[in-house]
Amino acid sequence: MKLTIDSLSKTYANGVHALKNVSLTLSNGMFGLLGPNGAGKSSLMRTIATLQEADSGSVFLDDLNVLKNKTEVRQLLGYLPQEFGVYPKISAERMLDHIAQLKGVGNTSERNDLVSGLLEKVNLFKDRKKHLGTYSGGMKQRFGIAQALIGDPKLIIVDEPTAGLDPAERNRFYNLLSQLGENTIVILSTHIVEDVSTLCSNFAIICQGEVLYAGDPETAVNELNGKIYTKAIDRSEIKYYRDVYNVISTQLKTGKLHIRILQETEPQDGFIIAVPNLEDVYFGNIATRVDVNTM
Ligand code: ADP
Repeated sequence: MKLTIDSLSKTYANGVHALKNVSLTLSNGMFGLLGPNGAGKSSLMRTIATLQEADSGSVFLDDLNVLKNKTEVRQLLGYLPQEFGVYPKISAERMLDHIAQLKGVGNTSERNDLVSGLLEKVNLFKDRKKHLGTYSGGMKQRFGIAQALIGDPKLIIVDEPTAGLDPAERNRFYNLLSQLGENTIVILSTHIVEDVSTLCSNFAIICQGEVLYAGDPETAVNELNGKIYTKAIDRSEIKYYRDVYNVISTQLKTGKLHIRILQETEPQDGFIIAVPNLEDVYFGNIATRVDVNTM
C-alpha cells in the first residue's frame, strides 16, 4: 500500500493556515509525523482520516482518492484520535463488542472471537470485565488501539498516543505498536522524538503547517555527522552563545547549561564534537521556526 499526499493545504475560518502545501509519500510500516504542538499534525491526521476537508491538494491510498471516497476509506481505516473519550461505565469487552457490531461484524461467535483476540493482543484480557472509567492512561490507549484494529484496517492513524503515559506504559505501548506495521501503513503523530527513534522506519518533521524534513531516521542522523558540537556553560552566558552560534538545544545538568550547536565548521570557544542523534535533527530543523527557549 502507498499513501500519497500531494500539496495539501488548509486554512481554518479563524485565519490559521494549518497546512501549507504538505506533500508526503508513505509505504507500509510505521511513519512518524513529528512536530511541536500546533504544528498541524492533527489537522493532517483528521484530513487523511476523512474527518475534515482540505482547501486544496489530494490524498491517494494506492488508487483510491481519499478525499472523495470517504465511505470506502473509512472501511480501510483504523483511527485513534488524540482525545479518546471512553464511556466510563462500560467494560472494555462490551464496548469492543458494540464497536465491532457497528463496523458490521454481525455474527455473534465471530464477534466474540474477534473481541477476545483483540483483548489478548493489547494485553487487556484479564481486565476485560472492568469498567473503562477505571482504566489507567496506558490501558485506555491500548484499548484505543484494540478498537482501531477492528475491521483489519490497512491504514492506521494514531494521534499523539504516548502523551501522558508513564515510562512503563509507554514501553508497553511501543511493543504493541511495533507489531502492527508490517502489512499496514501506520501513521504516528507525536511531539516526542523518542517515539520516532524507537518505532519509525520513516518520518517527517512538520512545523507551522510545513514539512521541514522527510526521510529515514538513520540517514537524517548521519547527515549531521561532524556538525554537532557541545559545551557546558554558565547559565548567564547563554545570550552570548545564542548571538554567536546556532544553538539548537539546551539542557540543564547539575547547575550547568549543556548547549548543542549545529554548524559545518569546527567552532572555537572550547566546544567538543558530539555524536548526533535524532533530537539534533528535530531541533536543528525547528530551531529557526520556534524559540528554543520555550522548547
Ligand atoms: P498539532 O496536532 O500539531 O498540535 P493542530 O493541527 O491541532 O496541530 O493545529 C494546527 C494549528 O491550527 C494550531 O494553530 C491550532 O490552534 C489551529 N487549529 C486546529 N484546529 C482548529 C480549528 N478547528 N479551528 C481553528 N483553528 C484550529
